[in-house]
Amino acid sequence: MKLLFVLSAALLTTAVAAGGGDLPPVDTSVRPGDAFFEYVNGAWLKATEIPADRSTVSDSVVLSDLADRRTREIIQQTAGDKNATADAKKIADFYNAFMDEATIEKRGLEPLAAQLRAIAAIKDRKGLSRVLGSQVRSDVDVLNNTDMDTDKILGLWVAQDLDDPSRYTAFLLQGGLGMPDREYYLDDSPAMTAIRDKYTPHLAKVLTLANIKDADAKAARIFDLEKRIATAHAPRVDAFDVVKANNHWSRKDFDAKAPGLDWQEYFTAAGLGKQAQFTVWQPGAVTGISALVASQPIETWKEYLTVRAIEHAGPYLPKAFVDERFEFYGKTLSGTLKPRDRWKRGIAVTNIALGDAVGRLYVAKYFPPAEKARAEAMVRDLIAAFSRRIDQLAWMAPETKAKAKAKLAVLRIGVGYPDQWTDYSTLEVRADDALGNALRAEVFETKRDLARLGKPVDRNEWVMTPQTVNAVNLPAMNAMNFPAAILQPPYFDPSRPVVMDYGSMGAVIGHEISHSFDDQGAQFDSTGKLLNWWKPEDFAHFKEASQQLARQYDQYKPFPDLALNGQQVLSENIADLAGVAVAYDAWQLSLGGKPAPVVEGFSGDQQFFLSFGQSWRAKYRDPALRQQIITDGHAPDQYRALTVRNLDAWYQAFGVKPGDKLFLSPEQRVRIW
Ligand SMILES: [Zn+2]
Repeated sequence: MKLLFVLSAALLTTAVAAGGGDLPPVDTSVRPGDAFFEYVNGAWLKATEIPADRSTVSDSVVLSDLADRRTREIIQQTAGDKNATADAKKIADFYNAFMDEATIEKRGLEPLAAQLRAIAAIKDRKGLSRVLGSQVRSDVDVLNNTDMDTDKILGLWVAQDLDDPSRYTAFLLQGGLGMPDREYYLDDSPAMTAIRDKYTPHLAKVLTLANIKDADAKAARIFDLEKRIATAHAPRVDAFDVVKANNHWSRKDFDAKAPGLDWQEYFTAAGLGKQAQFTVWQPGAVTGISALVASQPIETWKEYLTVRAIEHAGPYLPKAFVDERFEFYGKTLSGTLKPRDRWKRGIAVTNIALGDAVGRLYVAKYFPPAEKARAEAMVRDLIAAFSRRIDQLAWMAPETKAKAKAKLAVLRIGVGYPDQWTDYSTLEVRADDALGNALRAEVFETKRDLARLGKPVDRNEWVMTPQTVNAVNLPAMNAMNFPAAILQPPYFDPSRPVVMDYGSMGAVIGHEISHSFDDQGAQFDSTGKLLNWWKPEDFAHFKEASQQLARQYDQYKPFPDLALNGQQVLSENIADLAGVAVAYDAWQLSLGGKPAPVVEGFSGDQQFFLSFGQSWRAKYRDPALRQQIITDGHAPDQYRALTVRNLDAWYQAFGVKPGDKLFLSPEQRVRIW
C-alpha cells in the first residue's frame, strides 16, 4: 500500500511530451464545490485521449513513456561503443535479444522445452511437489511495492521479520491464478461473468498454439482447478491487515497445518530447505492450496502447470502467443485496443531484469545534482512540517506524540537513486536467448534474496529503480525512495511558482512520509517492529477517524455493480490526506509570513489546490477501472483528487458552501494527522 501509483505492467509505457509549468486552464462550466476534479482538469479531459496501446492515461503514464524513450537512446548509444561497461553490454544484449523476433520465431517453444519436459515427467505427488517448489521465485512484495500477485501457487518475499526487524525472513503469499483476483472466478455479476466466459477459450487457444491435443477439455479442467485455488484464496482486503497476516509458521507447522504438498520436497527444490521460520500471509490459502495438491488429479496439475509455464513465458514467445496473450490480458481484462510497440515492451522487460544497471546510466544523464539537492530540501521541509503537525494534534497524548516523533526522526530518505547499485556480474545474458535471459534474471533475483535470509537488514536498500515514475515508503524499514524519474515536470518543476511544486511533489512526499503513519505503518515502531506504541485512547481515536475516511470512500460508485472498498484503499487515502495537509503547511512555512503572489488571478491557496487536483488527472478504460477497483490498494485517481474535501483551507479557497455536491460539514471532514 505504500506506492504512490498503481503498480501494474499495464501502466508501464506512448508519446506525448510532458507539459509542466503553467497553471491548468480550469473548466468554468462546472463549480469547484460540485465537481473539483472536472473543474481543474476539464480542458485536459476534453483534449486527452487514451492512447490505443494503453488502458489509462495520466501524467505518470506520459513520464513513463519519456523515461522509456530516454532508456532506448541510452541502449542505442551503447550498441556501437567498444568501451561500454559489462553492465551496458548486458542491457544491450537483453534488449536486442527481445527485439530479435526472427530468432524468437525460429526457436518457437524450444527455449521452454526443459521446463515442459520436467512437468511431463511428474509421476506422483512427490514429483509434483518438487516441480512446484522449483518454480518458487521472489516475485511479490506485500508491504513496499504492494505487489501481491504471482502465477506460482505461492509467492516469496524476503524482507525483515515483522517481530524482529534486525533480520530477514521468508514471507509466503497466496498465488496460482491466471486472472487478477479470486473475484474474477467467483463473482456472478454479468460484467464478471462476461470476462470469465472468455478465459477458458483463451486457455484452450494457448494449448492449441503449443500443439497440445484435447485443448478444450484440458482448458475446462484447468479452469476448474484455478477456481478451486481462487476459492481457497483469502479476500484481497485481508492482505492489508498486517496483524492478521503476521503468522509465524515453523517448518514443521506446514506438515501439520497444511497437509497435501510434500513440503520437504517443495522447500528443498525452492532453495528454502534450511529455512526454519516463515511468515505465512494468508494461512487459509496455504492450507487450501496444499490440500488441492492431494485431492486433484496429477494429470490436471500437469495440464495446469503446462499452461502456466507457457503463459509466464508469453512475452518472449513467437508472435502467435503474444497476440493471443494481448487478446485476453490487453483487450478483455484492460480494454486496451492495440499492443504496445515492441520496443516499449523491450524496455519494460529490460527494466525488470536489469533495472539498477539501466538506472545507473539513466541518472548519470538525466538527473542533475541541483535537482537532487532541491528535492532533498523539499523532503526536509515536509518532515519539519509533519513534526509540527504532530506537536499541534489536539487529540494525541504527549507520550504518543513523543513516540511518533521518534519514528519521524529515524526516517531514511532516498532521493533520486540508491547509494549502492546491484552487482549483475553473475547474471548470464545472451544476445540470442530472450526467454532464457528473462528466466535467468528471475533466478538471479531469487538467489540474491535467498542469500539474505537470516542476515542483518540493510536499511539503505532501494525497492524501486531510479527510472520508475513512482515513489515508495518501506513501512517496516522506516525508509522511502523517491526515484529520479518522478522528480521532474509536471510534478517537480523549477520553472514555475514554488506553490505548485508543493501542491504536486510536496503532496507526493507528504504522502510517502505519512505511510509510516497510516493504518498499517502506524503499527510499526521506530525500529520497524510490529508493535502497538500508542496510548489506547489515542489509537482508538486514530482507528475511528480512519474508519470515517473508509466510509467516505465507500460512497463512491463508479459502476452500477461496483463501489470502491473504503477499507481496501484506506492506507493510501490516509497517506493522501496527510500528504496534502502537510504539504500545505510546508508551503505556508516556506512563505515566512509573506503573502503568496497572485498568478493569473488565482490566490496562492487556489494555486496549491489546483496543482494538487491537476496532479491526479487521469482517464481509464472501463475494464481497467474495474480491475483497479477490485485488485488495488489505490482509489482511482479522480477520487484521490477529492481528498481536498477534508481540508478547511480548500473550502475557503474556492468558497465551497453547504448545498455544493462535495460539501462536507466540519464534523464530517476527516482529520487524522
Ligand atoms: Zn501510497
